[in-house]
Amino acid sequence: MARHLPSPYVRGMQSLNMPRALLTARPLALAVLMAVAAAAAVPALSHMGVIGLPVGPAAPPSLPDCLDADLPASRSAYDDWATTLLDTTYRLSPDYQPPDLVVVGHGPATTRLRAFVVPELLAMIEAARADGVSIRVTSGHRSHERQAAVFEELVNERGEEHARRWAARPGHSEHQLGTTVDLQGGADWLAQHAWRFGFLMSYPAGRSPQWTCYGPEPWHYRYFGRDRAAAIRASGLSPREWLWEREMRR
Ligand SMILES: [Zn+2]
Repeated sequence: MARHLPSPYVRGMQSLNMPRALLTARPLALAVLMAVAAAAAVPALSHMGVIGLPVGPAAPPSLPDCLDADLPASRSAYDDWATTLLDTTYRLSPDYQPPDLVVVGHGPATTRLRAFVVPELLAMIEAARADGVSIRVTSGHRSHERQAAVFEELVNERGEEHARRWAARPGHSEHQLGTTVDLQGGADWLAQHAWRFGFLMSYPAGRSPQWTCYGPEPWHYRYFGRDRAAAIRASGLSPREWLWEREMRR
C-alpha cells in the first residue's frame, strides 16, 4: 500500500494526525491549532489534484491492502462481469476477451464494448446532451496486449512508480472486461447521474488511492447495471470495497 502513496499524501496524513499530541492543550488553542494544521494540509493535497481526503463510511475491515500480485480473480467468467474484482492483486487471464464486443463510435474515435453496455451508454450520453452537457467516449475495451503496451509506454515515459499508480498492469485493468469506458467532458454531470444508467466511477477521489489502489480517475466509469450501481452508490463505498464486502466474503 505504502508504495502507492505519493510523499505529499503521506506528509499530509502525518500533519493531520499531529494534533493527537496536542490533546492536552486548552480547547481553544487546540481548535486553532487543528484549523491551522488542516488549512495547511488540505490545500497542499488538493493543489496536487491527486488526492482527495477520505469521504464517506469506513472501509470494510476485511479489505486487503493494495499489494502488487498476480492472483486470478475468483469471479472471472464472462457472466460475472458485474462482480469481477480487479485491483493491483487480482487479475484476468490474458485470453479473457468477451465474445460479445461490438464497435462503438466511428472514425478515429472507434472503440469496442460488450453489447449490453452500449444502449445504456448511449442513453446516458443522450441524457447529458439534453442537459446541455457533451460527453465523448475516449476508451473502451482494451485487450491484455493493448494494456501491456499502455503500461509499458507509461513506465518508459514516467517511470515504474508513476505507472503503477496511474495505470493497471496487464490483466488488472477493468478495460479488459469490456464494460468500462473513459469519458471526456461532463465530469460533474457524470458524478451526479451516471449511476442512474448503471455506471460508477471506479476510483473516486474521496476513496482513492487508499481503498481503490489507484489514483483518482474522474473519467473512468465501469458498468455494473442499474440496480447494482444504485446499491453501490447508496453504500458510499467505492466499487472495489463494495465488491469485496458483498461478493468476495460469501
Ligand atoms: Zn480507464
